[in-house]
Amino acid sequence: MRIQFEWKMAGKCFHPEFITIRSGSFKSCEFPSYFGIFNHPKRGLILYDTGYSERFSREVSHFPGKLYGWMTPVKYSPSETALAQIQAKGLSAQDVKYIFISHFHADHISGLKDFPNAQLVCFKSAFDEISELGPWKSLLHGVLPDLLPEGIKERALWVEDTMMISLPAYMQPFHYGFDLFGDQSLIAVELPGHTQGQMGLLFQDLLGQEVFLIGDACWSSRAYQENRTPNPITRLILSNWREYCETLSRLNHLHRSYPKLKMIPSHCSFAASGYPSV
Ligand SMILES: [Zn+2]
Repeated sequence: MRIQFEWKMAGKCFHPEFITIRSGSFKSCEFPSYFGIFNHPKRGLILYDTGYSERFSREVSHFPGKLYGWMTPVKYSPSETALAQIQAKGLSAQDVKYIFISHFHADHISGLKDFPNAQLVCFKSAFDEISELGPWKSLLHGVLPDLLPEGIKERALWVEDTMMISLPAYMQPFHYGFDLFGDQSLIAVELPGHTQGQMGLLFQDLLGQEVFLIGDACWSSRAYQENRTPNPITRLILSNWREYCETLSRLNHLHRSYPKLKMIPSHCSFAASGYPSV
């Protein structure tokens, strides 16, 4: 099933390039935070992540979140938040029925509380991992717990509870995914390493293009195209370095065997600029 999809930016942060890709430069580069908007013919409006929001600014205005703000300077305008962009379409927060959470880093979930009616869809393993972190470990792992809505467990649909299916042959070396709505419109694929249970999303857009959102499995298209790992210093914040490298290597394999697939990392402006908003 083809599905209407838009890829939008909600703020950006700044890092030296060498941190995100081996042999990158020392100059500070922009890392925009993108989120997806789907219009499913039966399920309605769906988001994939939310990017930054005013709530992020509030969390980093005091300790311990302040340390996050120092490590990762962030810039956004109020009109860029997911909620503002939904409202600019003449829609409201209540129209968003589902939010697919790729993983729980603050730059992906800062707008969750803006959508109180949405069912939250994520891998349970991703949620379990952050639930076990104390306040300081949360900070080191890019998690700001106060960005999570109350009663998140009651609002969650665990990906592991949906239907596991075999992926199309072109997706090798990825073998299985989860058919989130049972209609093959949106298929979750686990991309572990950056965090546990990071959710990639496979679908076909209205133009018939196969698209694979890959979250933070890498920070740029160049990384999966050239199989370039980030600086080893990122081991401090990644969940599992070995799994990260394995996932990146599989994405590189997939890209080489099926270059027609449009793979989109969540912070890559190159991938975003080549993608039409439909
Ligand atoms: Zn992340």
